[in-house]
Amino acid sequence: MRTRLRICKEKVRFADHAAALAVAAVHGYRVRPYCCDRCGSFHLSGRLKGKRIPRPSSPSLK
Ligand SMILES: [Zn+2]
Repeated sequence: MRTRLRICKEKVRFADHAAALAVAAVHGYRVRPYCCDRCGSFHLSGRLKGKRIPRPSSPSLK
């Protein structure tokens, strides 16, 4: 399945797999790097869709 151009443009691009993997590690590997056939770079794909990356604190919760 080809990556949609719109998705490609919206996503962050990584020059190589290692760079993408480093960011995936930050997210606890809930996202996975994949090679994009549109731009030839790597994007992160995964379970973060529809789910915001949790913030370390919620200052408005008082
Ligand atoms: Zn792309």
